Amino acid sequence: MLSQENASAKEAPPRLLVDAMHGRLARWLRLMGYDAEYFGAGSDDAAIARARAEDRLIVTGDRQLAGRRGVAALLVTAAALDEQLAEVRAAVGGRTEPFSRCAECNGVLAELSPVDACGAVPPYVWHTQTTFRRCPGCGRVYWQGTHWPALQAKVLALLGDEAAL
Ligand SMILES: [Zn+2]
Repeated sequence: MLSQENASAKEAPPRLLVDAMHGRLARWLRLMGYDAEYFGAGSDDAAIARARAEDRLIVTGDRQLAGRRGVAALLVTAAALDEQLAEVRAAVGGRTEPFSRCAECNGVLAELSPVDACGAVPPYVWHTQTTFRRCPGCGRVYWQGTHWPALQAKVLALLGDEAAL
């Protein structure tokens, strides 16, 4: 079991499509570095069509959807967020780059020079931070604020040993 996990650990994880009931789960998966799109409204058939078109694994709490023949889906059964994250992590594994994606919209973050960040962040932040990143999708600017150490510790703990490789 361990050797198989280690072998798959270096592979890129599957792209995910997270269902409407699990918006927070999708946000945290993005923080962990997973490509996790979210589908809100829409039928199961629409979700399945999108998952197929974009080559994504559906992450859902809907047993019926997860059990449909020919559908690549992962059933999430836990109620607590941390347990949901552990369920997904255990099922899909893979190497991810934490904090590489926008938690809000799943965009891949790009470096933003301090010059370009000026005016895009509060003055105090601009004066105290040196590294900024921006989401090309929604325009949100990220920096390592006061919440950063706790957030980083939590995400690295969720990712386990692989993040230290
Ligand atoms: Zn974004």
